[in-house]
Amino acid sequence: GLGNVTADAIVQQQEMTVSGEENVPAAEQVSAAQGADGAPAAQEPPTDTRAAAADGAPKEGSNQDTTAVPAAVDEGTKEEPAGGEASAESAAPPSDEKTAEPEAPARVESSFRLPEIDAEFDVWLKGQLDASPADAKDTEDFRYLTFSELPPFTDLHKSLMRKTMTPELFAKLKDVKTSKGYTLSNGMQAGVLRPHLGVGFTAGDEESFELFKEVIYPIVEGWHKFDPNTQEHKSDLDPTKVTMSEEQAALFQKYVKSTRVRAARNISGFSLPAGSSKEDRLAVEGVLKQAFEALPDDLQGTYFPLGGLTAEQESALQAGGFLFQKPGPMQLLGAAGAGRDWPEGRGIFHNEAKTVLCWCNEEDQCRIIAMEDGGDIKGVFGRFCALSDSIKTASEANGKSLMYDPKLGFLGTCPSNLGTGLRASVMIVLPELNKDVHKLEEICAGFDLQPRGSSGEHSAAVGGKWDISNKQRIGFSEVELVQKMVDGITKIIAMEEELAAKNAGGGEVAAVGFKLPEIEPGFDAWLEGQLTASPADVKDTDEFRYLTFSELPPFTDLHKSLMRKTMTPELFAKLKDVKTSKGYTLSNGMQAGVL
Ligand code: ADP
Ligand code: MG
Repeated sequence: GLGNVTADAIVQQQEMTVSGEENVPAAEQVSAAQGADGAPAAQEPPTDTRAAAADGAPKEGSNQDTTAVPAAVDEGTKEEPAGGEASAESAAPPSDEKTAEPEAPARVESSFRLPEIDAEFDVWLKGQLDASPADAKDTEDFRYLTFSELPPFTDLHKSLMRKTMTPELFAKLKDVKTSKGYTLSNGMQAGVLRPHLGVGFTAGDEESFELFKEVIYPIVEGWHKFDPNTQEHKSDLDPTKVTMSEEQAALFQKYVKSTRVRAARNISGFSLPAGSSKEDRLAVEGVLKQAFEALPDDLQGTYFPLGGLTAEQESALQAGGFLFQKPGPMQLLGAAGAGRDWPEGRGIFHNEAKTVLCWCNEEDQCRIIAMEDGGDIKGVFGRFCALSDSIKTASEANGKSLMYDPKLGFLGTCPSNLGTGLRASVMIVLPELNKDVHKLEEICAGFDLQPRGSSGEHSAAVGGKWDISNKQRIGFSEVELVQKMVDGITKIIAMEEELAAKNAGGGEVAAVGFKLPEIEPGFDAWLEGQLTASPADVKDTDEFRYLTFSELPPFTDLHKSLMRKTMTPELFAKLKDVKTSKGYTLSNGMQAGVL
């Protein structure tokens, strides 16, 4: 019901981003699913960090990229500020900072709009925009901001960048610039403009990882539970090391509709998309095109520049799950500047069967993808590894190398996607587990897997079809992550089969229609005891039983409700035997929040 949806959650749903790995916290994850039926995300009070339900802050108990949140396809337009342009100019406070320096490039006429976040913050932001010098890489629809001071973040700003950025750190790094011209402000821009982002910092080039290390390392640690200061990342692209028994292979062939493995690859010497100049972007495309030409015969295909595709071709590729979408101005990539000069320099390479694909200049310079129908994970991973090797070899033949760091692994735009940058996913139909999405998400989390809907991050699981993939990116090799996915999916299939068998059994199962949830072993045992001890209620039905709690429930960390926060042992003791004349008790009122 509506009672579960906070105003904040509604606003945040409208602000969902679709792009970026912003959605894969390796840390704690409890589902934040299901806005509609009162699962945790929507139930969180407005002050909770959960506000980012849609785009994925790695926050307490949230798996905000969960698929049950409907994708906001048009967040770009929804987020356009209501106010006009020229009128707002005069309303802005006079800025005492000088505007463009004499030798700075002329400022282009701009359709760039600031978001509306909070009245006071918005005024500050407007002042910063007005005072920001023009950047040679500004475009008609995008302006890089230069923050003169640590942004006065609002309660809506949830990112790890915000948590990391102290006034001291800001002061220390604010004038630092990479040789490509990427600044601290550039890296922070998406996180400042889009408060709900979970990471909130983008790298603009390889040097960013060194110069802004003091920002990036804590973010990496917060997101991945991997400390680059003390840990090393290992890559292993030997597909023969993945083991899958014949039994597993048969199970996968039965349940898995399609398999996909992707990762980011960027080339040293060129900016990453958020910091790219037009020249760099085109140069990247040039190097990649040469690399595609040099691929071995079994990986050969054609490169299609995005600008050369008809609208029909583009949407057919998108509908098939083969191609990325244009980033909206207020999505992560748009807000970070990675959507400038769209579609120039972007494109897709694929073979005829569309089992080998490369994206050019979307979130990363290159995303390499292997996919095919069915559940032959070893085969798909093998093709992925061959593609990875070939892109590396072909780049090196051209005198280029891939961005790779011994601590951070493969480098990319978003710190949430470092290390392997690998996402190995299966599309799998799970009709039984689909009946309790919240539980499915918990099960996945237990295996370090992440469920997404049938058409990508933030989409719904149509017909019980899920995209389930590894959740971790760094600290494990590619082989290890694929193996974890294979083994986790095997267990999930076993659970699905068990449930199906139970439900098909009918008889005794149907007679006891009421089932307790599985929340946490200790709590579950307590709940079972309460159920057994609860007296029958005349209003009980075949499929529902009213519980009578004998004591304040031993709530778990998963219990997020205001009821839980309100209910003290004293209050419980005081009201536990109170009954309305209609027979409704305190336990009756609490039951949903406990279960
Ligand atoms: P990524 O960040 O890995 O690119 P997205 O969630 O943005 O993932 O999805 C990209 C596209 O790939 C979507 O259209 C999605 O449905 C598709 N996709 C993901 N996994 C699979 C799979 N195993 N089989 C087929 N299509 C898939
Ligand atoms: Mg993506």
